[in-house]
Amino acid sequence: MEAEMREWCVALPKVELHAHLNGSVRDSTLLELAKQLGDRGVIVFEDVKDVIMKNGRSLPECFKLFDLFHILTTDHDTVTRITKEVVGDFAAENVVYLEIRTTPKNNEAKGMTKRSYMNAVLKGLKAVEDVDAVLFDSILRPDETLSRTPVGDLDGVTKKKKIYVRLLLSIDRRETTSAALDTVNLAMEMKDQGVVGIDLSGNPVVGEWETYLPALEHAKELGIPITIHCGEVPNRKEIQAVLDFCPQRLGHVCCLNDEEWKKLKSSMIPVEICLTSNVMTGGAPSLELHHFADLYNAKHPLSLCTDDSGLFSTSLSNEYYLVASTFSLSKAELFRLAQGAVEFAFVDDEVKKFLRAVFEHVARKGLMP
Ligand code: 5GP
Repeated sequence: MEAEMREWCVALPKVELHAHLNGSVRDSTLLELAKQLGDRGVIVFEDVKDVIMKNGRSLPECFKLFDLFHILTTDHDTVTRITKEVVGDFAAENVVYLEIRTTPKNNEAKGMTKRSYMNAVLKGLKAVEDVDAVLFDSILRPDETLSRTPVGDLDGVTKKKKIYVRLLLSIDRRETTSAALDTVNLAMEMKDQGVVGIDLSGNPVVGEWETYLPALEHAKELGIPITIHCGEVPNRKEIQAVLDFCPQRLGHVCCLNDEEWKKLKSSMIPVEICLTSNVMTGGAPSLELHHFADLYNAKHPLSLCTDDSGLFSTSLSNEYYLVASTFSLSKAELFRLAQGAVEFAFVDDEVKKFLRAVFEHVARKGLMP
């Protein structure tokens, strides 16, 4: 029964709206990169190996780990490699639309600028081979689109899987106002290259809302959709400010008090729910007590997301399975949840039309309940 449900969750076409590039890297890749740096004497491999393989991490431990990940991944070729792998991994589990977010990085020692970092990401997207990644510059062909989604698999036809990929640029909370503004301007510059939005993320106990506000307001003026990590820690002033700012989407929303909760619900701002991440980092006390249930019952717009599939050893299929097993959602309810997420994507209507068609096709053909 459990195996059948897990399989069904993998087969379900899914939409991923909250995945950090460097948090989604496979353990095996991280270990390989760590071994190479260990051999060159840059790090002590044995120490790093234990950190990478450890399961169950607190929020502060996660951010220490990201610093390590960035040592391992921050050169152009590696950024290209991990991008290619991450897209392939999501497509393999039938994610049909992926918004991958990443922080453009300046790294003088590697001759890296925010722009060259993003060029390395774009190179990775174009290098995807095992699956058909539909990028910003692809021509959409409706007949092909339907035949090469997971629908093809469910029909018993084995074809290359198709995944639509778009990018969000993250502002790291450690950044200055000027660096945050650079990221927004870069997002604008790369609008025709698959960048569809701005994210505010990074260690939630670092930095001040006022530092990023000018950049977020600038993005708003430019018409760039924004998603903000909200309420990972009980910072009342900031939660209030974020809700007042009214971004297009919110991530996590863990530590809201009754009043903030009411405000969130009346705002109808779609929420990116990251179950495993929240439980592992202490944002939610347990799966059973996760705020997903309250928002779902209130019919609040939601999408299930992985956050950092590598870091938390999860997958989007697993997140759907966890919702089914914890909150007794039926297959039909899971299907509607996945289908509903299309509406919260930052992508243009043309692509949304194709994505809606994928779900309608699956439903019409009776391939899913
Ligand atoms: P990158 O942007 O380097 O591709 O992905 C890793 C970065 O995403 C981290 O350094 C951090 O800034 C951000 N990030 C990943 N997971 C989380 C999370 O759960 N909460 C917050 N606030 N930031 C995160």
